Amino acid sequence: MSTFQDLGLNEELLQGITDLGFETPSEVQAKAIPILLNEETDLVALAQTGTGKTAAFGFPMLQKIDVSSRTTQGLILSPTRELCLQIANEMKAYGKYCKGLNVVAIYGGSSITDQAREVKRGAQIIVATPGRMKDMIKRRLVDITKIQYSVLDEADEMLNMGFKEDITDILSGTPDDKNTWLFSATMPREVATIAKKFMNSPQEITVGHKNESTSNVSHEYYMVNARDRYQALKRLADANPDIFSVIFCRTKRDTQKVAENLIEDGYSAGALHGDLSQNQRDIVMKQFRSRQIQMLVATDVAARGIDVDDITHVINYQLSDEIETYTHRSGRTGRAGKTGVSMVIVSKSEVRRLKSIERIINKKFELKEIPNGMAICEVQLMSLANKIHNTEINHEIDKYLEDINTLFDETSKEELIKKFFSVEFTRFFNYYQKSKNLNVAAGDPNREGRESSGSAARYFINVGEKDGFDWMKLKDFLKEVLDLGRDDVFKVDCKDTFSFFNTEKEHQEKVLAFFTDYKHEGRFVNVEITEDKPSRGGRGRGGSGGGGGRRREGGSGGDRRRSGGGERRSSGGGDRRRSSDDRPTRSRRSDGGDRDKGEFKTTHSRSGRSRRKD
Ligand code: ADP
Ligand code: MG
Repeated sequence: MSTFQDLGLNEELLQGITDLGFETPSEVQAKAIPILLNEETDLVALAQTGTGKTAAFGFPMLQKIDVSSRTTQGLILSPTRELCLQIANEMKAYGKYCKGLNVVAIYGGSSITDQAREVKRGAQIIVATPGRMKDMIKRRLVDITKIQYSVLDEADEMLNMGFKEDITDILSGTPDDKNTWLFSATMPREVATIAKKFMNSPQEITVGHKNESTSNVSHEYYMVNARDRYQALKRLADANPDIFSVIFCRTKRDTQKVAENLIEDGYSAGALHGDLSQNQRDIVMKQFRSRQIQMLVATDVAARGIDVDDITHVINYQLSDEIETYTHRSGRTGRAGKTGVSMVIVSKSEVRRLKSIERIINKKFELKEIPNGMAICEVQLMSLANKIHNTEINHEIDKYLEDINTLFDETSKEELIKKFFSVEFTRFFNYYQKSKNLNVAAGDPNREGRESSGSAARYFINVGEKDGFDWMKLKDFLKEVLDLGRDDVFKVDCKDTFSFFNTEKEHQEKVLAFFTDYKHEGRFVNVEITEDKPSRGGRGRGGSGGGGGRRREGGSGGDRRRSGGGERRSSGGGDRRRSSDDRPTRSRRSDGGDRDKGEFKTTHSRSGRSRRKD
């Protein structure tokens, strides 16, 4: 096994590598770095996500450029803003000891003048998305006529995203004698075409799957309304009684919240994220390893080092912004020759992102249905039956048997079994009996996946675009003043001088009470219940499909989770998941309501918005 030193990297880089904690080169690095360092050649490298491609081109580029010059010498094109930032940051970290190094990221959705200013300060390396790059070239804000090295990172993904023309345009303004290094997970025809067009007899390297066992992982997705995410998660857990899983959320806050909710609802769950102390994290990991915790809710960063075998399910509670992350997540299961399932809970608006992921993992997602309540009851019942069947008898009970037998003297075996199982079954049955179908049909036109549910109240409000609102601003405003959570205000329809919005009926009293004497910019804001049906473009078709059934079921919506949680917790039968770890969180429950509202208020409007955009 070679070392980074063997590959021919210089002292500055080796120092950076030590700081990063990289010990041995990955396969793609071991193969690419010596070629790129020692030869002036074009290169096509095929390697899956997570194999360390950034360093494979990053190290050689850093070593080869002249940091004492301010000329732009290296250009890295990557498909998304997130990747672009990630690569730029990695490059900066790799080149931490390369004095004078200046790496600049250029991507859409952020100030072009700021980026131009940074470039002007002298960027030896530019990491860019094709769209913004082209824009900046057109405006003469960058000069790439002297670059010596160009990288097409995630080339397949860039072409998938329709950047072919932009890439062609960009590269046509670069020197013919530069070297081009193309990195891709797959080699579709378009990539081969690009390679042919822009590269001179490139060398080729191919790297096998880093994680061979990923072939043991099946990939499933479940389509639900965004607001039903948590319910869906619980059902997935209930439908898999022996689940041992990592559940991924996007933010630390969501991670904590989901874990707390699960604990409140009686599951053996724990949170793992960066706001916890090292000690707390160690405790959680210890509990997880020893199976005291069945469901570990984690952020991507915190879960990075998890090397627990036998994880049965990875649940993507929310997809990460970077689609690459999915590979890291799903790789947590299906290890050591075992099979595993990677589940994704998506809302309608996110479903297209699965396509990009499919290309990376080279596998198809299977659309599955969130099991209905009765199916879950059955699973639970059979699981219990099996458990009882396999239970070793504890003879400590022998001494009580006489009394017990007397009690059941008149009871037949059949009846006894029925009664016995009813203890557990009734608990689940009561909880799930009126549960609704959480699945969203593929053809459902509701953009936010919101059903016209009978449990919602629709309001008229006498402010609109004239008052400086659009639907997003109004939604943020309402959430803020009413102290409501991210998904509590929906179907916001902003007109000229007035608007409409929905909340669940449970918030109706609060909403109306709040607006009895509220002034916005000196004017009384009037809110009334309205019968008006939503009328924003395309939404009118909302009630199609299984709407009728849902509407009926939706009526029982509201507090099921809470009461269900209460039931579960108070029921003694729940040994399989209850453990000592739900003690500390129970006491926190009383402030739960406030916590929910408070934290969503400040940040979620922002994250919600950025997601809508990408
Ligand atoms: P790819 O571009 O192939 O998807 P990345 O370059 O993003 O992969 O690397 C994936 C992760 O592995 C990153 O967190 C990176 O810091 C880490 N990594 C890369 N090379 C090594 C190495 N030799 N040793 C340890 N970690 C590495
Ligand atoms: Mg990469």
